[in-house]
Amino acid sequence: MPRLRRSVLFHVLLILCGGLLCVWLAGRLGERSAWEARSLEGRAQLELYRQNLHTLVERFRALPALLAEDTAVHRLLRDPHNPALRQALNERLERLNQAAGSSVLYVLDRHGQTLAASNWNEPSSFVGHDYRFRPYFSNALEQGAGRYFAVGVTTGIPGYFFSRRVEDGEPLGVLVVKLELEELQRDWVGQHGTLLISDDHGVVILSNRPAWRFGHLQPLSGEQRARLLAERKYAEQNLRALPSETRLAFDDGELRRLHGPDGPRDYFWQHQALPTEDWTLHLLQDPAVVSDTVLAYRLIAAALWMTLAFGALYGLQRRRNRQLLRRSRAELERLVVERTEELRRTQEGLVQAAKLAALGQMSAALAHELNQPLTALRMQLGSLQLLQRSGRAADMAEALEQVDALVARMSALTGHLKTFARNSPGGLREQVRLAPVVERALQLLAPRLRGSAVRVELAVDPRAEVLGEAIRVEQVLVNLLDNALDACADQPAPCLAIGTRRDGESWALSVADNGGGIDPQHLPHLFDPFFTTKPVGEGLGLGLAISYGILRDLGGSLQAANGAQGAIFTLRLPAVEHIGMTERQRA
Ligand code: ADP
Repeated sequence: MPRLRRSVLFHVLLILCGGLLCVWLAGRLGERSAWEARSLEGRAQLELYRQNLHTLVERFRALPALLAEDTAVHRLLRDPHNPALRQALNERLERLNQAAGSSVLYVLDRHGQTLAASNWNEPSSFVGHDYRFRPYFSNALEQGAGRYFAVGVTTGIPGYFFSRRVEDGEPLGVLVVKLELEELQRDWVGQHGTLLISDDHGVVILSNRPAWRFGHLQPLSGEQRARLLAERKYAEQNLRALPSETRLAFDDGELRRLHGPDGPRDYFWQHQALPTEDWTLHLLQDPAVVSDTVLAYRLIAAALWMTLAFGALYGLQRRRNRQLLRRSRAELERLVVERTEELRRTQEGLVQAAKLAALGQMSAALAHELNQPLTALRMQLGSLQLLQRSGRAADMAEALEQVDALVARMSALTGHLKTFARNSPGGLREQVRLAPVVERALQLLAPRLRGSAVRVELAVDPRAEVLGEAIRVEQVLVNLLDNALDACADQPAPCLAIGTRRDGESWALSVADNGGGIDPQHLPHLFDPFFTTKPVGEGLGLGLAISYGILRDLGGSLQAANGAQGAIFTLRLPAVEHIGMTERQRA
């Protein structure tokens, strides 16, 4: 029992552990495949944002180059202190800015001083401000053009600045267009996931989550910080660190844990470089979006595992049952063999006992049968001695006749026993015609028939031919006729009828008498050895038992019945035409 319990425990543990492992692996697989599908969408989304940004930037990139050729700009740069020219350019820039849809248009002189601006009449006007520290100014002056992202020092609004040198043989100044990307950022607010644009320093300059803006994704060196401060790139904005580490890498994207404004969180992270701007576009998605897929994978894996595990258990149980069945069948077969052997032994014992009982019965009957004539013989011998002494020869002859009768009776008894002894099965069988057999039997009984004046009716078919043994069939017939004569001895007109008839594959030979018939309650015992209704000394009760045995050995049968008057005994033997060739040859 403990062994069985241990095995059950082992199987349960195995199923549980296997199941957990399966579910875990399926979860990983589900996550990977879901992210791979998701990454394609993310990639498309990133590409769309890149194009939007590109289109926007391209629209304004050409504007400073065009305006750098403007004669009004040239004129003012040549005569910077002329208030009329300034006012005219201010107004012109205001109109142009409105028409182009840019944020601010302004002109700087060679020293970085703003001479005219489209926002000249606003509180945050650039006019008079010095932008010499801005790289877009120095780049334009030195290289002809510049672009730069920065938070406006005057307005505090971040913008993308495009600059162009204004020249006329010599550098006169710089024309700048500022593009505020706030609108673009506003468009992104409703989008799925977190969108970031980081600049070449890794600082988030645009995001659809305002809290993330001006966080830096990479650590900044002291030197970098000093330079950014000098350029006033992010104006007065505080830079916060947004550190992150990779947890899982996929083909396109990775799972990163980011310590952002809402604490540490995992994101599926994809990015796209914007080489012209030297920026990077980031798309961060919440891992929860794949949790449904992961759950589905886990459920399927659990279901599959359970099916597999229970299938295996079922198979195991079936095999065990089959083994058990095989074992119990073998046990059963062994028992059957044992019992059969026991039964056979018991049967042999019973047969032995029955034989002994029969022997006892027969000995008793024989002793009884022989005792009576022997006593009579002794008495006869005694009287013979007396007769001899008295010389009565005539009486002696009579007494000797009686002695002879007694001896005859005893020899008849032993004759019966001899027949019984001969009654061994398996004798050779021959073709026997019934008519001669009947004839010989009647001859044997002729003295008795004559003595009792019996009428004999014969109806024997001359074609009747059976397979048997003539002598033994004759012996049976004599016995039947003897009994019939006994039965009708008291009748006023005793009569016997012997007839043959075809009965299927056999010939039937019947002996009928007009005696008293058989008492129905005796019918079942008629063929039992030593069954007799005749007085002691007349019947042994062996005749019918022996006859029955003889016919059975010859492949036939013997039946007794009551007719209209008297009894009818019918013996059957196989007809000759109906036996097979081999039987015929053997016969
Ligand atoms: P037995 O003749 O020595 O008695 P059998 O075996 O030949 O032994 O017969 C057994 C008994 O069957 C007879 O005692 C008798 O009662 C009954 N029996 C046999 N033949 C006839 C018959 N033809 N009619 C009536 N009874 C018969």
